[in-house]
Amino acid sequence: MRRNPYSSAEIDRASHKRHSDDDIEDLLVGSKTRFVPVDTERNLVDRKGDNPQPVFLQGMMARAMMSGGAQPIFLGHVEEETFFALDITGFELPAPDMGEFIDLRQVGSLLFAREGSILAYARAMTYWHRRHRFCGVCGAATKVSKAGHERLCTSEACKAQHFPRTDPAVIMLVHHGDQCLLGRGKQFPRGMHSTLAGFVEPGESFEDAVAREVYEEVKVKVHDVRYRHSQPWPFPASVMIGFHAEAEGLDFEVDTSELESARWMSREELRPENLPKDGSFSMPRKDSIARRLIEEWLGHEAGPPPVV
Ligand SMILES: [Zn+2]
Repeated sequence: MRRNPYSSAEIDRASHKRHSDDDIEDLLVGSKTRFVPVDTERNLVDRKGDNPQPVFLQGMMARAMMSGGAQPIFLGHVEEETFFALDITGFELPAPDMGEFIDLRQVGSLLFAREGSILAYARAMTYWHRRHRFCGVCGAATKVSKAGHERLCTSEACKAQHFPRTDPAVIMLVHHGDQCLLGRGKQFPRGMHSTLAGFVEPGESFEDAVAREVYEEVKVKVHDVRYRHSQPWPFPASVMIGFHAEAEGLDFEVDTSELESARWMSREELRPENLPKDGSFSMPRKDSIARRLIEEWLGHEAGPPPVV
C-alpha cells in the first residue's frame, strides 16, 4: 500500500543499538553519520534549488555542537548511512547560507518520502525531549538514556523512566451516498475544508473515538467505520489514524465551539474543474492524510472490510 508523507519503511531504527553506549559512541564518529539539526521544531532545508533539500550536519560541525551540549538522538540507518537528530536550538549554524530553518509542512509534499520521514522523526524526538526535562512523578531533573529513546529521573528515590510519546488522533471522512461531509476548523486558512478529526481519549478504542468525535462536532451518527491507513503527524506529536465512516443521514448541526462550519460536498462538486474559484472552498494540504482520505473516496478505491 502507498505510504503517506512523513512515513517510510526505509529507516532501519536498529533499536537494539540504543542499549549499547559503545555502539552509539562508534556510530557518532562514523564517516557515514549524518546529524539532522532541529531548531525549536523547525528543520534545516535548502530551498535555493528547484526542489527543497534537507541539510544534514557532519563530522567536526556536529561534534562542536555536541561538545557544547547538544544531545544526539539515534534515529537509525538508511542503507549505509547513520542518522542522529540534534537539537541545536540556541546554537549558531557554522555557515549561515547552509539553509533555513522552516516548518516541515511548508515543504513536506515536495520532499522524497525517505527525507520527509527522517525530518519528521527528528522533529518529533527533539520536541519530546524539550518537554520532558523534569520528572512528571517527582519533579527532579531527568537525563537522556538509551541513545535518546528514554529519559531517566535523576532522583535515586524515584528513578522513573519516561519514554517518547505520540498522541493518537482519529481522522475520518464521513460520507453518505454520493456526498461527504467536510468541516472548517477555526484556525484553517481561508476556504480550506477538511475531514473531521480528534484525539483518542484514555479508555477508548479508535472506532469509538471516530463515532464520538463525529457526533460531538456535527451531531451525526456513523456506522460502517473502515480503517484506511495512518500517518505520523509530529505537528507537534501525533499519529493520525485514518477512517472512512458512513453517516446515518444528511442532517447535521455544527458545534461551533469545535468547528466554524461544515458542508456536504458531492463527488461532482469536488471535481477539480467544479471547485469554486473565488477562494470559498479549498481542499486540505497535499501532504495530509485528510487529502488522501478524500481523494480515495472520490476514486472509489476498494476498501478493507469494516471493523465496526
Ligand atoms: Zn522522578
